[in-house]
Amino acid sequence: MKMLSRLRSGMAALEWGRFSARFARCPFCGRSLFVRLNDGEAGVRCVQCAASTVHLSVGLALANEIPDLSRLQVYELSAAGPLVEHLRRQARTADFSEYHPDAAPGTMWRGVRCEDVQALSWPDASFDLVTHSEVFEHVPDDARGFSELRRVLRPGGMMVFTVPLSDAPRTVERARLTEGGIEHLLPPEHHVDPFKGNEPVLVFRDYGCDITQRLERAGFGGVRIETPVFPVPWARLRPVVRATAV
Ligand SMILES: [Zn+2]
Repeated sequence: MKMLSRLRSGMAALEWGRFSARFARCPFCGRSLFVRLNDGEAGVRCVQCAASTVHLSVGLALANEIPDLSRLQVYELSAAGPLVEHLRRQARTADFSEYHPDAAPGTMWRGVRCEDVQALSWPDASFDLVTHSEVFEHVPDDARGFSELRRVLRPGGMMVFTVPLSDAPRTVERARLTEGGIEHLLPPEHHVDPFKGNEPVLVFRDYGCDITQRLERAGFGGVRIETPVFPVPWARLRPVVRATAV
């Protein structure tokens, strides 16, 4: 059923002139076929597990950084997809959550734990590894969010994540949360959230190179930003940020 709906959405996204296919090793499902259905970022997928280039970026960074997850307690800030399935299979324990504005932190909504990264309900030092993809550009108070993730990590624990990242020296704030509501500093930009039925979610900022200092202010060290190497040239992977809780 999953395969059929995947095939159907794949056919809808397909532009024949742009189609390309190549075998490579997927960090989640092993040797697999990768296809390019169109030139969009979402047009590149692993045929077996449907991993996107964002998933692949985090998966490959994890495989390079921590090849053995079997002793680690892991927390990922999403609850579905190939990375979630991989962590569920590989880690000692794996916890997952999504954000829902109407759900209190730590409560369940449609079978999924809900958390606000700015006010997590987890105790201090609960995890060895925290991962997230394309989340923090949507967090109104990202300093508080990073501090919260630092709090729930054990000292020496690692955070591995992606955000849309430019090579601008400074992060550009696009919007901020005030007592009167959201104040837009730039024209509103949205991404879609599949957890809430592809509802548009506001982008609060475009991160630049100062993300390193932002992480250091929240109690992280050893920040490194690297784009994993992948032998499929048209699969343009994302830079992945790695930081250690100090
Ligand atoms: Zn795969």
